[in-house]
Amino acid sequence: MAWDIRRPTTHTSGADRTINVSISKTILAVVLATICLAVGGALWAAHESDVVSVERQAQLAEHAMESSVDELALQQETVAVWDESAQQAVAVKPDVQWLEWNVGGYLNQLFGHDETYILDGYDKPIYADIKGQVVSPGRYGARHSEIGHLIESLRGRTVEPVGIHDRSTGRQLAHGSTVQTTSRSKHDSHLVEVGGRPAAVSAMLIVPATQGYVKPRGGWPILVSIRYLDSNFLDQLSARQLIADPRFSETDNPGPGEHSISLRTEWGASMGYLIWKPELPGTRILSRLWPFTALMILILAIYVTVIGRRLRQTAQDLASAEGEAARLAFHDGLTGLPNRAFFQKSLDEWIRRGHLDPVPFALVLLDVDDFKLINDSLGHDAGDAVLLAFADRVRSAIGPQDIMARLGGDEFALLLADYSDDQRLEAFCRRLLHRFDMPCVHGSQNIQVRASIGGAIRKAKDSAVTILKHADLALYESKATGKGVCRIYHPKMWNSLIGRREMMSAANQALAQDNIRPFYQPKVSLEDGRVLGFEALLRICPPDGEPIGPDVLAAAFEDSALASAISDKMIEQVLEDIVRWRRAGVDFGHVAINASAAELRRGDYAERLLARLDLMRIDPSLIQVEVTESVLLGRGAEHVERTFRTLANRGILLALDDFGTGFASLSHLKQFPVAIIKIDRTFIRDLQIDAGDGAIVDALIGLGQALKIDVVAEGIETGAQRDFLWALGCRLGQGYLFSEAVPASKVPPLVVPPSTADCGERAA
Ligand code: C2E
Ligand code: CA
Ligand code: CA
Repeated sequence: MAWDIRRPTTHTSGADRTINVSISKTILAVVLATICLAVGGALWAAHESDVVSVERQAQLAEHAMESSVDELALQQETVAVWDESAQQAVAVKPDVQWLEWNVGGYLNQLFGHDETYILDGYDKPIYADIKGQVVSPGRYGARHSEIGHLIESLRGRTVEPVGIHDRSTGRQLAHGSTVQTTSRSKHDSHLVEVGGRPAAVSAMLIVPATQGYVKPRGGWPILVSIRYLDSNFLDQLSARQLIADPRFSETDNPGPGEHSISLRTEWGASMGYLIWKPELPGTRILSRLWPFTALMILILAIYVTVIGRRLRQTAQDLASAEGEAARLAFHDGLTGLPNRAFFQKSLDEWIRRGHLDPVPFALVLLDVDDFKLINDSLGHDAGDAVLLAFADRVRSAIGPQDIMARLGGDEFALLLADYSDDQRLEAFCRRLLHRFDMPCVHGSQNIQVRASIGGAIRKAKDSAVTILKHADLALYESKATGKGVCRIYHPKMWNSLIGRREMMSAANQALAQDNIRPFYQPKVSLEDGRVLGFEALLRICPPDGEPIGPDVLAAAFEDSALASAISDKMIEQVLEDIVRWRRAGVDFGHVAINASAAELRRGDYAERLLARLDLMRIDPSLIQVEVTESVLLGRGAEHVERTFRTLANRGILLALDDFGTGFASLSHLKQFPVAIIKIDRTFIRDLQIDAGDGAIVDALIGLGQALKIDVVAEGIETGAQRDFLWALGCRLGQGYLFSEAVPASKVPPLVVPPSTADCGERAA
C-alpha cells in the first residue's frame, strides 16, 4: 500500500510567500488608496471651484441684467426730466425732428436703446423710434400688450407692488431697491419678455426739470424705452463681466461645456434662459496640473516599488530568520538530528495520516549503553564523538522516508515506514546492533559503543502514547537483559514492567520508612562448622511484621541511584554492627557485602566504601565484596577492574557470586583480583541427583584450587550435601544447614553462647 510519509513541514516557504503577498497587497492598497484620495480630492476641489465659479458668473449675469434695467431708467432721466422735452411732448403738434434728435435718436445712439416710444397724457403714442429710425407711433400698438402694465402702474391705475427698479409717484422705494435715478423722475422699470426676447423696459414720466409748469390735462407724457438683452447687451456682458459666449434661448438647451440659468421677470414670469460657457477654474487647473500629477504618480510608483522591494527583502529575511529559528527549535545542535519536539510532531503526523486507514510503521528507541560512564571517564569531547558516531551509524541504516531523532542525552528514536511484522523489525534492529561492532575512534582512543534497542510496530489504532509506551517497554526489557541487546515489544512485557514498578516503589518505601536492615548469614568451615564470617543480606523489617527478603525490591538493584541509596543504608548499618561487635568482643570473622552492577557503574564505589571504613576505623580486611559475573562483562568492565584493584589494594577481598550461572570466562578470574568464588546454590541443590551438576562443582573446586581462589558452596541445606562437597574438596560453605540470615543481634550467639535478639531490636 502506498502511503506518503514525509517529514513534518515547518511551512517556512509558505509563510515566506504569505508574508510577501500580504506586504505587496498592503503596499498596493496604500498606494492605490493614496492615488485615489489625491485624484478624488483634486477632482472634488476642481468641481467645487467650478461650481462656485459658475454660481458667481450666474450671479454676475443676473446682476448685469438687473443693472441694465436701472441703467435704462438712469439714461431715460437725461431726457425725460427736462423742460424742453416736456414742452415738446405736451405740444399739440410735437416736433418729431426735435424728438428724434434729442430723445429717440439720442438714446439709441448714445445708449443703444432699441425702441423708444412717447405716449401723451392719454397714453396715446405720439412718437416712435425703432433702432434709431423714426417710425409710425402706431407701432407702439404691437408692444402694448407686453409692456402696457408698466404704463398702468406708472399712472397709478393698478395696485401692482412697487418693484425694486421702480420710483413710483407718491410711493416709497421698494425694499432692496436698486434704483439709480434721482427723485425728480418717476418711472416703472422691469425685465420683461418682449417679442419673445428678454428686454429691459422702462416707462418714465416726461416732466420739466424746473418748477412752474402746469401739469397738462390727462397727465404728463410718458417715455417708454426698450432695450433688448440681445447681442449688444451680451457683448457688453461678455466684455465687462468676462462671461464667455453668452446667448439667450427660449428653451433650456445648453451645449457641451455650456451652462444655463433660467431668467424670470421680477414677478416670476419666465423669460427663457441665459446660456454661456462658464469659466471653470478647477477644470483648467486640473488640466494644467495633469502632467505634473502624472509625474508625481510616476515618482510615487517608483518610490513605492523601491520601498516594496525593500519590504519584501525584509520580509524574506524575517521569514528565513523565522525558518532558522524553527529549524533550531526542531533540531539538536550537536548531531543536527531532529529533536524530541520534531519527533513528537512527526509521530503525531504519521498517526494522523494513517488515521482512516491505519498503515503500520515502527517506532524504535535506542539508548547508548553506559554513556554517562564514557562522559565521566573520557570527557565530554569523547561523549560528543560517541554520540556523533552513533547518530551517523544509525542514520546511514535508515531509508529516506524514515526519521531519526535525538530525544535527549543518549536517547535516540527512529520512525520506520512500512514495517508491519516483528521479525522484520527485529532483524533490522540486530543489523543496527552489528553496526556497533567496530569501536568508535576518538583521538588515540578506541571507544566501544553499544546500544540497547527497543522496538514496537504500530498496530491497529494505537495512539502515539501507546506505541511510545510499547517501544519504551521493549527498551526497558532489553536494558534489563544486558547491554547491546534489542527487544521487540510483546504484550507480556507489561507484566514484568508492573512487577518492576512495584519493586521500585517497595524500595523507595523501605528507604523512606527506614526499614532496611542487614541480616547476617554465616559462612562456615565445612570441616567443623566453625563460623568464619558472615554475608550481609538485605531484609525489609516493617515495625510490626516479619522480615521480608530482597526479592520484593530486586529491580531496584538495577537502578544505579536506588541501588546506591540502598547500598549506603546497608553499609552504614553493617559498619555500625561491626563496631558494636568489636566492642563486645564478638569474633565475627568478616562481613561480605553484596554490590550490584548498577552501583558499581557509578565509579566511586571503592572510594566511598574505603572513606567510611577509615572514618569508623574499621580494618578493610574485615570486609569482603560480592559481585555477580555480569559486573565483569560488557562495557565499563575496565572501571570495575579499577574499583576492584583499589579495594584489593586495601585488603578487601573480592568474591564472585553465583559463579557458573553467567557468562564469565576463566580469563576474568585472572583479569580481576578475584579471591573467592561462590558456587551458585542451583548446582548444590541437585548435586547428588544430577551428575552434571556434580561434575561442574567438581571442576569449579578444582579451578579454585589451581588458581588459589577460595571456593564457597552456597545453599547447603543438608548434611549429605555438606559431606559430598567436603569429599570433592570444598572447604567453605553457606546454607540453611548452618543458619539462615539472622538479625545483627543474633550474630554473637552464632559465634558465642546464644542470646535473644530480633530485627525489631535495632529499630528500638
Ligand atoms: P545471594 O548474594 O546469592 O545471596 C544468597 C541468597 O541465598 C540469599 O537470599 C540467601 O538467603 C539465600 N540462601 C542462603 N542459604 C540458602 C539455602 O540453604 N537454601 C536456599 N534456598 N537459599 C539460601 P536472599 O537473602 O533472598 O538474597 C537474594 C539475593 O539478593 C542475593 O543473592 C543477592 O544477590 C541479593 N541481595 C541481598 N542483599 C543484597 C544487598 O544488600 N545488596 C545487593 N546488591 N544485593 C543483595
Ligand atoms: Ca551474595
Ligand atoms: Ca549467591
